[in-house]
This record gives sequence, structure tokens and C-alpha cells, in this order.
Amino acid sequence: MNYDQPYWNPVLETLPGDALRGLQLKKFQRVFRWTYTHSKFHRSLYEAAGISPEDIRAFADIRRVPTVEKSMMRDIQRKDPFPYGDALCVPLDEVTVFRQTSGTTGQPVYQPDTWQDWEWWAECWAYILWAQGYRPSDRVFLPFGYNVFVAFWAGHYAAEKIGCEVVPGGVLDTKARILKIQELRATAMMGTPTYLLGMAETARLKMGIDPAQLTVNKITCAGECGASIPSTKRRLEDAWGARIYDHAGATEIGAWSYECAAQPGGLHVNEAMFLVEIIDTETGQLIEEPGRRGKMVITAFDRQAQPCVRFDSKDVIEWAAEPCPCGRSFRVIQGGVVGRADDITKVKGVLLAPSAIEEVVRGIQGLGDEYEVVVDQTGNSETIRLRVEILPEARDQCTLIQSELEDQLRLKTNLRYDLEICGCGSLPRYETKAKRFKDLRPKKTQ
Ligand SMILES: [Zn+2]
Repeated sequence: MNYDQPYWNPVLETLPGDALRGLQLKKFQRVFRWTYTHSKFHRSLYEAAGISPEDIRAFADIRRVPTVEKSMMRDIQRKDPFPYGDALCVPLDEVTVFRQTSGTTGQPVYQPDTWQDWEWWAECWAYILWAQGYRPSDRVFLPFGYNVFVAFWAGHYAAEKIGCEVVPGGVLDTKARILKIQELRATAMMGTPTYLLGMAETARLKMGIDPAQLTVNKITCAGECGASIPSTKRRLEDAWGARIYDHAGATEIGAWSYECAAQPGGLHVNEAMFLVEIIDTETGQLIEEPGRRGKMVITAFDRQAQPCVRFDSKDVIEWAAEPCPCGRSFRVIQGGVVGRADDITKVKGVLLAPSAIEEVVRGIQGLGDEYEVVVDQTGNSETIRLRVEILPEARDQCTLIQSELEDQLRLKTNLRYDLEICGCGSLPRYETKAKRFKDLRPKKTQ
């Protein structure tokens, strides 16, 4: 393989639009037939909608296939056969690995994969890593807990697949991980934005090590949308002195998107492996033009054990207007995953996306990386309390910082906040996905 070429799969990643749509239709027909034939749950869903594999002749027919939501998967897994319910498309003996979703609410959904599915995961991740400059000369450090969550497991195997040397930093604590990176001169790393910022803070404040002076030159982020939020990305770049790349994926979907080395301000959808449809949440219509947000409905073409066919992910995304200068024909979603349809909530009559608060807080010099938002209600009036941390060196500019924060928040979110400025280290720190947004209002008002 030519290491200088920028694409993991030069044929598929540059396939002209028409050929790509043709491939997608064929692959959709195949996975739909597979699912219809092998999953009792899906078959009854499709029969109720009056649609069978013969009916999928053109792209427009795909829209007739009913969507599946996480709650439906949760329900069927509560029923026999144990443990996956009647959506499992292969004999249980062919399942080689168990994972579960890491969502913050509700019962997790179990995710079985066969060995073939697992190879598919690694292949999808190989596109990501190659596009972000991972090559066989890299030594990749993985600072995450290897457990039931898929997290960076597939990133690990993909790094091995493309020829990198992988260092699994599983049960080490944060300090030991930093020392290992230093000792082995690791060149690349993967993690959630939250953990990577916390790791850099530990190195600086508790170990006297400047992470920017370490040898890590590229980092792949996932699990949260932070690496696509410009101010968070900048903080990570400054802290680590490395290129910071985003990737969005999910346990029940797969590794469906990646930021490339050209960093166009968004993520490529791997359209050879996935079909992404953007649906208007109010009208249910397909959105094809750039710049209009909707929720993502996604199909993974090649996953077999528990397929993902028109899965309503609730991720809010929009198409970018321009093709990416890297030459890939895979379309780009502007600004990555903007939020989740579930997270975008109305406060005081105004729509609020928690990511907008993150963009403001992390864009202000003198504030720490952590913050906490609590939405509450007293009588008929709703309140938003925002707690932020001030860095020790910025304490004497507290009033100035507070007024900048108020201005920026009003400008970007159209809302007023009760601000609380705390000392550095007083807010919770998170190892994986952070829970910074708390809505304490009674359910009926949301
Ligand atoms: Zn690109």
C-alpha cells in the first residue's frame, strides 16, 4: 500500500455521486432483504407497513420503510429469546461479542456482533484513522476502560489493521497513562474530549508535565460532539499541541463518520458503508439541501447480527454546502453532530442546544474547561443556573470575565442565566461521557 495516498479506499472514497447512489441503493436492497428474511421483529414491522424487499426499486422507496428507535430495541430485548429478543438475524452461536449502549438514560440496549460484524467495525474505523493521518509508523495509545461499551475498541483493532503499533492503556489511572505516553513516545491517541481535557489538566497541575511537549501529534475524539465545537477543539489543540479530529459513531449503528485531514469544519459520512437521511422533525420530509437541520435516520449496509435499518438516531445534523477539498465524494455534515433532538429543549420559550453553552464557555479565556447547567422551575418561572470555574491566574479579572460570559450567552443563546463562578477544581470531572446538563423541571412542562 502506498502510505502517501490520502484515502483508505481510493475507489469508494472518490466514487462519483451517481455511482455512489447506485451502490447505496443496491446495498440497501441487500440489507433490507437480509433483515426482512432473518429478523421476526423487523418482518412484522415491515408487514404491518405493507412493504417487502420487492418493493424497493428506487431511492424514493426507501422512505416507505418504517424507522426503528432505540426504545423499540429495548422492548424486544426484554422478551424471549434471551438476551437479544427476536431481532437477532443469526444463530446465537455465531455471536462473538457482546456490547451495550452507554446512553445516560434508560435501560441499555444490548448489541451482539458476529466475527464478520467485528471485521466490518474495524474496516469502518480504518477509513477514519487513515483519513486522519494514522500510518504504520504511528504508536497509538488508547487511554480508555476496555469493557462492555464499544468506545474505542474498534479504533484499537483498526489501528492494528492499518499497521500501527497499539498500546492498550486500559486499567492504568490517568497519571500512569501520561507516564506511559511519555515513556513510549506515543504519536497518536483516542478519547472523549472531556477525558482528554481532564488528562491534560492532570498532567499540568498534578505532574508538572506540559502535554503539548509530549510526542502525541494527532488525537481522534469520539463519544461527545466536543471536537466539532470550535472552542473545545481549540482548547484540545492548545493543551496537547496536536491535530484534533472528530468522529461520530454509535454502538447500535457503527462508525459512520469522520473528519479528514483537510478539516472542512464537518464530518464526512462514510457513504459506501452507510445511508444517512436527514429528516425534518416537524414535517417528516427528507432534507436534501445544505444548511437545513433535521434528525438523522441511518442504515448500516453491512451489519448482520442485529442490523441497523433506517434507525432514528435523534442526532441533529445538516449537509454542508461545499464539497471537501480533500477530494472525497462522501458528503460532509456541517459542524458535525450539532446535538440530539432529545437534548434540544425549550427554556423560557426559547430553544436551547446545550452545545451552544459549551461553545461560549470554552471560548472565554480565564475560564476552566468544566461547566454545569441546571434548568429548574419555581412556580411559573424557569431558571437556568450556569456554574463555571475560573482559572487561578484570572481571578483578578473575575468581573470582566463574568460580563463577557453574560454578553456571549445572550448573543449565542438568547437567554439569561444565573451565573456562579467557582474556584478551579470544584465541579465534577468525568472519565467518559460528561453529564453537564441537568433538567430538574417537572416532566409535563418539557
Ligand atoms: Zn475531506
